[in-house]
Amino acid sequence: MAIASPAPLSLGQALPWQDEQWQQLCYLLNSNRLPHAIMLSGAQDTGKRHFAERFVQRLFCTRPVDDGACGECKQCRLYLSGGHPDFRRIEPEAAGKAISINAIRELSEFAVITAHQQNWKIALVAPVEAMTLNAANAFLKTLEEPREKTLLLLVHDQLAPVLPTIRSRCRVLSQGLPPPAVARDWLAERLRNDGASVDELLARAGGRPLRALGFAEANTLDDIARFEQVLKQVQTGEAAPITSAAAFEGQPLNQLLEWLLVYYSRQLITTAQRGGKAEPRQFAFYDLLLSTRKKLESKTNLNPQLVLEELFLSLSQSA
Ligand SMILES: [Zn+2]
Repeated sequence: MAIASPAPLSLGQALPWQDEQWQQLCYLLNSNRLPHAIMLSGAQDTGKRHFAERFVQRLFCTRPVDDGACGECKQCRLYLSGGHPDFRRIEPEAAGKAISINAIRELSEFAVITAHQQNWKIALVAPVEAMTLNAANAFLKTLEEPREKTLLLLVHDQLAPVLPTIRSRCRVLSQGLPPPAVARDWLAERLRNDGASVDELLARAGGRPLRALGFAEANTLDDIARFEQVLKQVQTGEAAPITSAAAFEGQPLNQLLEWLLVYYSRQLITTAQRGGKAEPRQFAFYDLLLSTRKKLESKTNLNPQLVLEELFLSLSQSA
């Protein structure tokens, strides 16, 4: 299927399924009731970072229009240039890596200094579950000492739980998956594409529009189709699990695991839709997928090839 290459999403893009929460947050801001710490919690690749960045710019903006940033004032331009002195982004150095205690120490220093522009001071921590335990404990101290016009924005991708002591000190905004029709319209407009491939992209992305967009940009659907073909063969006993796993050596395990999770949950859903009942061993395999993802996120030292072999073996026994 042909997919037009879409224009890249700009940071802080407004996304239609976030309208209601955006209005809520602006209402709190306009009535001077903004909490000092906000945690955006929801599935990965649904736009939480865009929401957070958009709100950061809105807070800095001195000439907001209809509850949005103007994009032209000095503060907006400072923010958009990436050099706003009163803003910090705390992220892992690379995807899948941890946020270290050093990064959090710098954040605590940032939290106590006076704002350069006599306005808001904002730190964005994303994703919050990437903090090591030491980093999380150090972060608690900053969280426990709220300062005026200082906002801590946390993004939680729900790949691992967050310390309850951190969670309880934040206003948690849960962001569910967007309604399918809204996600479909948005993606179709971005890709200027016919409905069929948009539905396919969204299904493979587990309903997460930004992931679906990423798939389209990287032409990932073909790779996923090949992977699923092998999964099917392993499941039906047409292909041997270990040799099949070898074909994917060197590919990022977290990506393969996400594809496997979507593939398997779609099977469970189809079974249920047909009025069938999944077997206990099928749920056990699904649990294994989830616990493997947790292990990956907790930075446990895993041998990716060994893990994939084990998953393929269990898949062949789960059918
Ligand atoms: Zn502005």
